[in-house]
Amino acid sequence: MISVDEARRIITGKTSALDPEMVSFEQSLGRALREAVIADTDQPPFDRSAMDGYAIRTDDSSESFKIAAVVQAGDVPTVSLRIGECARIFTGAQIPENSGVVIRQEDTTSDSQTMRVTARLPVTHIRKRGEDMKAGEILITPGKRLSPVDLSVIAGVGHTRVRVGRRPRVFHLSSGNELVSPDRTPGPGQIRDSNSILIRSLVEQAGAEIASELHAGDHPEEMINAIRGFASPYDVLLISGGASVGDFDYTASTLEHLGYDIHFRQVSVRPGKPLIFATNGAQIAFGLPGNPVSHFVTFHLFVRPALETMLGRSPPGPEFRSTHLACDFPEPSNPRETYAPARVLTDGTVEPITWQSSGHLASLVPATCLLRIPANTVPMKKGNPIQVFTV
Ligand code: AMP
Ligand code: MG
Repeated sequence: MISVDEARRIITGKTSALDPEMVSFEQSLGRALREAVIADTDQPPFDRSAMDGYAIRTDDSSESFKIAAVVQAGDVPTVSLRIGECARIFTGAQIPENSGVVIRQEDTTSDSQTMRVTARLPVTHIRKRGEDMKAGEILITPGKRLSPVDLSVIAGVGHTRVRVGRRPRVFHLSSGNELVSPDRTPGPGQIRDSNSILIRSLVEQAGAEIASELHAGDHPEEMINAIRGFASPYDVLLISGGASVGDFDYTASTLEHLGYDIHFRQVSVRPGKPLIFATNGAQIAFGLPGNPVSHFVTFHLFVRPALETMLGRSPPGPEFRSTHLACDFPEPSNPRETYAPARVLTDGTVEPITWQSSGHLASLVPATCLLRIPANTVPMKKGNPIQVFTV
């Protein structure tokens, strides 16, 4: 059985970034940037006042000034100040050419013609041209997932058409005779399908889109026909359930029947051992173990990074970070690498959440991260270092 790292290496090696597309910057939130965003001009583009106040010359130590001009944000000042003169100025306004200091309004008294300085601080209150960014400077590098701040920066430099990764189109097939849709009351032996919405939400959260969502019973022809019947192109096929070695587990044979090459069928991970990864040309497929917790963990460890690679995000997640256990974690040693739901506390340490089995989805409700327990680790104590990633 291969390790988590090996499985991730195989997936990364068989997955490539999809062709990028141009979209309006307003449509680019959460998309992976596939070009550099560069400053078109210096920002600020001119020396400007950081305060409401009065601009004066640097070499002027007068206490009383004649108000020679008023400069509002958006104005282009034409005044050239003489000694003993000031310009009334407001935040964001371009400062007159030969002025070098802005006295804050609250450090003055004034009438309509004259201003008197009551306090002189050792600061200019001027934001110099290019202080924020210089023309030609790279502001956002390719591969970044665009955040609200990135979009604001993009707007500021007028980069209104953005090159981003095409969203991978995902075909999700849930399999299992026992499943009914969430709006139905399960009959004897049945349960509601809770994985489809989980997958849909995780796929959308990752920046990809669901192209189709279907269900099939545990019959090879039903599964094959459901997939074959979908005429539109898709990039990723996810099959929930039937990934194991039971008599009625048909995911592997379905994938083979559809022309996929299977690269592995099991990973040494807990939960989530029966995980299938296959490719057919540029299309990739995963057979995910049906247990909801396994589903969740394997999605984050394997599917999400593949979607991110397709989007052009680099490097793909998950982003592990180191922290410490907030309490003892008496999980017995296991030959498989284990991922356990946990909660990050306000001091940054993590508290594992008790969970009995990979079928217990409710235990995930308070989880804010998954913690990684390497294979064959002795039970851990409060304060031990541990790696986690946010979910
Ligand atoms: P399987 O991987 O098909 O052997 O399923 C493992 C367990 O997960 C079984 O208890 C299934 O009933 C359950 N399961 C499979 N698919 C789903 C689903 N879509 N929603 C909820 N539970 C599921
Ligand atoms: Mg099943």
